[in-house]
Amino acid sequence: MMSVEEYAQDTNSTVSNVLEICKKFNIKATTKDDMLSEDDIIVLDNEISVNDESLEQDDTYIDDDELESDLRIDTSALDTNETKMKKKQVIVKKEDNNKYLKAKKDAYKHKEKLKSNASNIDSSVVLYTDQMTVSDLAHALNVQASVVLKKLFDLGVMANINQSLDFTTAEMVTIDFGKELKNKETQDISNFENYEIIDKEEDLTERPPVVTIMGHVDHGKTSLLDVIRESNIVLKEAGGITQAIGAYQVKAKEKLITFIDTPGHEAFTAMRARGASVTDIVIIIVSAVDGIKPQTIEAIDHAKAANVPIIVAINKMDLPSANPDRVLQELVEYGLTPEEWGGDTLVNKISCKTKEGIDELLDNIILIADMCNFRANPNRYATGTVLEARLDKHIGAVATLIVQNGTLRLGDPIVVGNSSGKVRTLKNDLGIDIVKALPSTPVEVTGFSDLPTAGDKFMAFETEKEAKKVANERELRSKHENTNRTGMTLEDLFGEVKEGNTKRINVILKTDVKGSEEAIKASLLKLDVDGIKIDVIRSGVGTIVESDIVLAQASRAIIIGFNVRPTSNIIENAKERNVDIRLYNVIYKILEDLEAALKGMLDPEFEEKILASATVRQLFKFSKVGTIAGVIVNEGAIKLGSTARVIRDGIIVYEGKIGSIQRGKDKVNEVKKGIECGITIENFNDIKEEDVIETYTMEEIKK
Ligand code: GDP
Repeated sequence: MMSVEEYAQDTNSTVSNVLEICKKFNIKATTKDDMLSEDDIIVLDNEISVNDESLEQDDTYIDDDELESDLRIDTSALDTNETKMKKKQVIVKKEDNNKYLKAKKDAYKHKEKLKSNASNIDSSVVLYTDQMTVSDLAHALNVQASVVLKKLFDLGVMANINQSLDFTTAEMVTIDFGKELKNKETQDISNFENYEIIDKEEDLTERPPVVTIMGHVDHGKTSLLDVIRESNIVLKEAGGITQAIGAYQVKAKEKLITFIDTPGHEAFTAMRARGASVTDIVIIIVSAVDGIKPQTIEAIDHAKAANVPIIVAINKMDLPSANPDRVLQELVEYGLTPEEWGGDTLVNKISCKTKEGIDELLDNIILIADMCNFRANPNRYATGTVLEARLDKHIGAVATLIVQNGTLRLGDPIVVGNSSGKVRTLKNDLGIDIVKALPSTPVEVTGFSDLPTAGDKFMAFETEKEAKKVANERELRSKHENTNRTGMTLEDLFGEVKEGNTKRINVILKTDVKGSEEAIKASLLKLDVDGIKIDVIRSGVGTIVESDIVLAQASRAIIIGFNVRPTSNIIENAKERNVDIRLYNVIYKILEDLEAALKGMLDPEFEEKILASATVRQLFKFSKVGTIAGVIVNEGAIKLGSTARVIRDGIIVYEGKIGSIQRGKDKVNEVKKGIECGITIENFNDIKEEDVIETYTMEEIKK
């Protein structure tokens, strides 16, 4: 909030100018002291920036919806810089400016109420917090603790009010109340990387698939991207306009497809290593002349590890030496059996030179998209990922973003990394100004206070205040965390297994000879400890090299070396990326270690053994020692210091320890069955007649 006068000062404007704009947009401000809300400020900011800079400096203003019908350019002009400039000027007709401005005003004036990302939690959701106790859960469920205790008892869980519950147990109780338990982490909007957005079924609409092309150098990645873009660009009339950002959209069979123009799999991997998954489909391009090469194998490994559908494009079919059958054969060896050979991998034989097979390739993308049914909710604030970013001398940080859910609009407050900003300019893949970007749209955005990093997630917010708050929280948290820890050690992995977060442990295996590779791989795949399995995402003969570490980091895998010794550089590199390398020279030791670790890290299972029970007959209250329960021991022997619980009507009301045992005037350490005595429970005085006191131990069940 700020006053009209403050705002005028802030923006080097005048009070009368600001008031005039307020009037135009129905903002309730008529004097210099009237206060402006965050939303008012967005409207004013936009209007002032339009009047001040954009109209004078920029030259293209077109509403994306109107684009197709309104763009008319002279494509016969030569592509020199000068003519490009002229073309742009041709595009910018006066009415386009007006249309753009109108669209922009509409977007703010009748601010379509996008669904805030923060309004995720409804009354049917209960948040699980770390160490949540029975009493916390009862509170969250809005019921008495005894009701929760009773439910737990029915589920065979003996608990007391102060006992903390694990997620699964708390979930069972929550479900019984017709509610859903969610981890607090996934509901903390300031942690938007893990934030769980729940969209109602009816809010979801189809979104274009996001496709990445990977393959060995010179097999035709760039040519394929070029040929698809040239022949299918959304605006055929705009064929002369060059792609402005590292991603573009094309239309095939009336459907949009988004291509991310990564310079090979490094970018893909780097993003995955940062936890970003932006790609829905991977195209692996293989030259029909050269066949599968080392980088093809890496690309296959990465695509498989990312668990996305793969289409293989066998390129350069126009060349006489093309041998697609050999490629098909090789694909089988790498687990990609082509459809025509009875497998399920879609393969297209193409030529980027003659354009043979390109349409069929696009058809296959549409086919997969239809099968996978990629959807998003355009009616909420945007979330997505930074594809690339650069610093421009004049305009500051410029980033290419891909909107993954929601709609990003000009002027939206936004948080990337730990800093907040505002979408100051929004351009599509052709460098044309737009007012909003729907899911799966790549856009170029300015307005960040810091330079974002590729792979960063972003989220747009309703108000700048909210965005600032989230950015601050993130900043604070990142100070506490070592953000570089993206790899995985065996311990981390088993930690995740233990938490129930994963059922798969990724392993990269490097061995001295083919024979040991096969033997170890086969045995690793057989390992299965309570449903937790090992997945060998890459195996090969030879020592551990950098690309292994990169894959391990991206796929959170551990590396196992058998009779190989990596260089000290590699070991250093692995340490930096927090990737665990384990070296062995005896096969059974690998299996033993992995199995033992798997077992060891799993929660040991305990069985309860009741030692004794006693019934309370009478109560003696003392101001100093508290309540002494006069009991008769029914079973076993009660010992001083034993773990005990107090049961009332079948419900555990307290768990603690036997504080003292007294026979007559004497303190004793133990009382046996049939004996009457006085007992106190440590820190608990609320004992009642007819309560049962039970002592017990938990014994581990050896597996
Ligand atoms: P990238 O390194 O994977 O991006 O490969 P490029 O797209 O740069 O292609 C490498 C070379 O192969 C270039 O000289 C292309 O002209 C050529 N090339 C790409 N596709 C084809 C094709 O279908 N047929 C022929 N004959 N050459 C091709």
